[in-house]
Amino acid sequence: MSFTGKVAFITGAGSGIGRATAQLLASQGAKVAAADLRADTAGETAAAIVTAGGKAIGVGVNVSSKAEVSAAIERTVQEFGALDILINCAGIYPRALVVDIEESQWDQVIGTHLKGTFLCCQAAVKQMIRQKSGRIVNIVSGIALNGARRGSAYSAAKGGIMSFTKSLALEVREHNIMVNALSPGPTRTPMSSWGSAKPGDPSYAEMISQHPQGLKEPEQAAQYIATLAGPLFDNTTGRIMHF
Ligand code: NAP
Repeated sequence: MSFTGKVAFITGAGSGIGRATAQLLASQGAKVAAADLRADTAGETAAAIVTAGGKAIGVGVNVSSKAEVSAAIERTVQEFGALDILINCAGIYPRALVVDIEESQWDQVIGTHLKGTFLCCQAAVKQMIRQKSGRIVNIVSGIALNGARRGSAYSAAKGGIMSFTKSLALEVREHNIMVNALSPGPTRTPMSSWGSAKPGDPSYAEMISQHPQGLKEPEQAAQYIATLAGPLFDNTTGRIMHF
């Protein structure tokens, strides 16, 4: 798959799936804005891409701030001249029971996932409409459909992103902008509670009972995201892909 000449803005690119996606798209020719809450981790991803011969900038951004998101997208367009692909990977997953969760923590989870995805899509779509094309891949989770103890805010946010993806797809199809979502399945990243599970551990057996494909590496999730952002999905929009 080639992304030569394409400009991609990837949130959560300082870690896990976002970082792997930034590196994969850059290795296939994309110019990448690696965006993350921490400018240092975003910068590390960008530096690794440049060292490998690719083009990238690191961008510090809090996706739940409209002003920061607008400035980050603007900087990307100034630097690379366009915005073709948006990948929304930024996320957090603090665990708490509904009876215990603090209002501020609920707001932070919804603000990062649901509002953050909305703000990035809104800013990106404005540019993509001018370009008369674009690709957006949002990241959801099977937890949105199945629920999770101590994961109510996360599951609610991911369910919201699924609905939002379908509505946005309807609104921007006429501008040749495709909006799809990926549910990657359990993936070994700092966020995942399965991150340290190994075949043979009881926790790994429990996971396999729910996810027969087992624990994936972030590079595999990145391949799925690249597929959704690539030519196979040139005319497909509003789809939620579960892996
Ligand atoms: P990760 O390694 O923790 O990466 C998430 C990144 O997002 C981190 O660098 C994090 O920074 C950053 N971030 C947090 N809040 C932010 C904000 N307000 N603005 C900008 N960046 C922010 O997690 P991951 O597993 O790769 O997750 C990527 C996406 O996949 C998430 O949407 C997650 O919900 C989804 N997902 C993951 C799994 C899995 O099993 N790993 C399964 C299904 C879906 P800090 O580290 O500083 O917080």
